[in-house]
Amino acid sequence: MQADILIENGWILTMDPENTVFEKGSLAISGESILAVGKAEDLSHIEAREKVDARGGVILPGFVNVHTHASMTLFRGLADDLPLMRWLEDHIFPAEARLTPELVRLGAELACLEMMASGTTTFCDMYLFENAVAEAADTAGMRAVVGEVLYDFPSPCYGPIEKGFLHVEEMIGRWKYHPRITIALKPHSPYLCAPELLSRAFDMAETHNLPFVIHLAETAAETETIKKTYGKSPVAHLADLGLLSQRTLAAHCVKMDEADIELFAMKGSSVAHNPQSNMKLASGIAPVPAFLKAGITVGIGTDGAASNNDLNMLSEMRSAALIHKVTSADPTLMDAGTILRMATIDGAKCLGLDEITGSLEEGKQADIILMDTDKPHMTPLYNPFSQVVYAAGRNDIRDVFVAGKGIYRNRCHTTLDADAICRRVREAVLTFR
Ligand SMILES: [Zn+2]
Repeated sequence: MQADILIENGWILTMDPENTVFEKGSLAISGESILAVGKAEDLSHIEAREKVDARGGVILPGFVNVHTHASMTLFRGLADDLPLMRWLEDHIFPAEARLTPELVRLGAELACLEMMASGTTTFCDMYLFENAVAEAADTAGMRAVVGEVLYDFPSPCYGPIEKGFLHVEEMIGRWKYHPRITIALKPHSPYLCAPELLSRAFDMAETHNLPFVIHLAETAAETETIKKTYGKSPVAHLADLGLLSQRTLAAHCVKMDEADIELFAMKGSSVAHNPQSNMKLASGIAPVPAFLKAGITVGIGTDGAASNNDLNMLSEMRSAALIHKVTSADPTLMDAGTILRMATIDGAKCLGLDEITGSLEEGKQADIILMDTDKPHMTPLYNPFSQVVYAAGRNDIRDVFVAGKGIYRNRCHTTLDADAICRRVREAVLTFR
């Protein structure tokens, strides 16, 4: 049997339904897909054009960042340690008002560089001028779910909301047959979108069978506003509009009570958990252990780099693993295996992509990362799940493949010019200070 690439001599964490691990495993890639995965001896008949020695490292599915605003890398560190509304109104909104498609593309390229080098292969993005983000992800060779942000007021991208729906319709047509880019419907939130807008966006998602992604129940202020306006919680508001379904992915969900959680579980909607952004903006801590107990699918997201301030899924995973232990005084909650599933296969499930990515199984897309473990801070290695979640850093990511293509090899980018992009960003943001 002939493969294009054979990765050998590593711990393979498949993240398949049985959570199968191969200690001295091999994985064969043919074209865009995984040809075979298993014990080295079971793949010994496979010939390959290229052999990759994992040197005892960890081989796992690429991380799925289920909620970010990639181009906000341009505003990384622009304004920190401020209350949410002051941060937004005095700093972020004025800077965003000056964005152009070119700047959004540049910020997204910078984000792709950072995400690839920290093991992310798929990201879910909501922002302005999202065609530019899709173009950046395409050039980078990454997988992305992108959606133009919709809200009641005019957008610098499309103008009035009426044109927003036309714009999204065009985007859907443009990217329909792209193998790695999916369009999603992305109304910002119940507090910036009227019920008519939300319902229309949801209908469009249904018509085209696309994900419906929204910020939800992020802060106490939001919950209060929605309760005052509609007489119910943000979750109940969406439920009453008929907008909770399996295609619904809600970011944050910090302020959800038992009834909200029950509604979510019943409708099969999923959650994007962004612990670092929620901590930094002092929004609170989402009741993730209760979500999991109720059977809700939860993925992990970094949110934008302006409220994090990085796009590093490894550190986000560690935050998610630690924060709930403290608040519940229960160290058994959110164990390393659960966290790693959230960052891979469950993230893929949140985006409706679990048939093609999120685990290392025959026939699925070859979205794979390889981590070095031959380092003091990664020695000894008893449990690879624990090592990835509690000990690894992003510099341990050595190789990244998406759809069988090596987009980061031996710690070098192969699709984007990192030096040139960083230089262009430094020049472009001079006027933002
Ligand atoms: Zn967000």
